[in-house]
Amino acid sequence: MPNDTNPDARAPSAPSHSRTRPVDAVFSRPQLHWVGDGFRVAGYMNVVPNAARRLSPFLLLDYHPPYFYEAITRARGVGVHPHRGFETVTIAWEGRVAHHDSTGAGGIIGPGDVQWMRAASGILHKEFHEAAWAKEGGTMHMAQLWVNLPRSEKMGPPSYQPLSAGDMGLVTLADDAGVVRIIAGEFAGVRGPARTATRVNLFDAQLRAGGRVTFTIPPKDNIAALVMRGAVLVNGVARAGLDTLVLFENAGDTIVIEAAEDSHVLLMGGEPIDEPIFQHGPFVMTTREEIVQAYEDFHSGKFGFLAN
Ligand code: MN
Repeated sequence: MPNDTNPDARAPSAPSHSRTRPVDAVFSRPQLHWVGDGFRVAGYMNVVPNAARRLSPFLLLDYHPPYFYEAITRARGVGVHPHRGFETVTIAWEGRVAHHDSTGAGGIIGPGDVQWMRAASGILHKEFHEAAWAKEGGTMHMAQLWVNLPRSEKMGPPSYQPLSAGDMGLVTLADDAGVVRIIAGEFAGVRGPARTATRVNLFDAQLRAGGRVTFTIPPKDNIAALVMRGAVLVNGVARAGLDTLVLFENAGDTIVIEAAEDSHVLLMGGEPIDEPIFQHGPFVMTTREEIVQAYEDFHSGKFGFLAN
C-alpha cells in the first residue's frame, strides 16, 4: 500500500533524486557605504541573520552596484592594509581596479576579470581605481567577497590567482536562455578556473527575459543568489527584484531561476567550514590568541612591506 507521506508519491512527475531547495528569505539591498574613497558598496552579510553560519565559507559580500565616477587625477580607493586567514575575491563587470601586494604581485582587474587572492598567513595590499581609467571616469560595477580558509590553511603561504575574462568556464543555455560564466566550482560539466581550499561555487548568470536555468547544489552546501540586474522568479514561487539577495534553505538540491526580464544573477555558495570564527578588522582566525598574534606579527613587520 502506498505511503502518502512519501514525497515521491505526492510528486510523481519529479525525478526521485531531485527536490527543490526552498527559499529561506529574500533580502533587500542594505544601505550603501564607502570603502576608502573609491568603492560604494552594500554589505549583504550584515542583513542576513546568522550570516557567518548560513553563508559560510563566505565572510563578507560587498556588492558595488553600477555607479558613475567623474574623471579625477588623484588616486581613489583603499591604501595599504593587511589581511590574514582568508581569501579576497574581487569580481569586476565594469571599470578597472589596480592592485598591488607585498608578495610583489599586482595587476589590473578589468571587465570580466576576477582576482582570487589568498592572504593566508599574511599579506599587505592596496586597491585603487586604475589611474588611466580614473582620468577618463566611468561606471564601476564590481563585488568583493571574502572566503574563509579552514584552520589548516590559515597560516599557509599567500598566493594570487589573476583570472582573466577569457579563463572562465562558459555554458550557453538551451533555448537562447542566456549564458552562465563559471568562476569557481562546476556547472553543467564545465569547471571554473579558480583553485579553492574548500568547495566553492561561484556562477555568474546572464539570462534573457523568459530564460530559465536549473542549478543542482547539494543540501549540505550553503547557497545564495544576488540579483544584479532585472528580476527573477525562483523555483516558480519567489519573486526576487533588483539588488535582492536570495538565501536558500539547506534542504533539497534543485534551484530554478527564471528571468522575468533581462537579468544578471550571481550565485555564490559552498561547503560550510564548521570551525570557530574570531574576526577583528582584516584578520579572521579561529581563536582570540591567533588574533592577538596577527596584530603582533603585523606591527613587527612580518607581513612584509608595500609602499603607499
Ligand atoms: Mn583588502
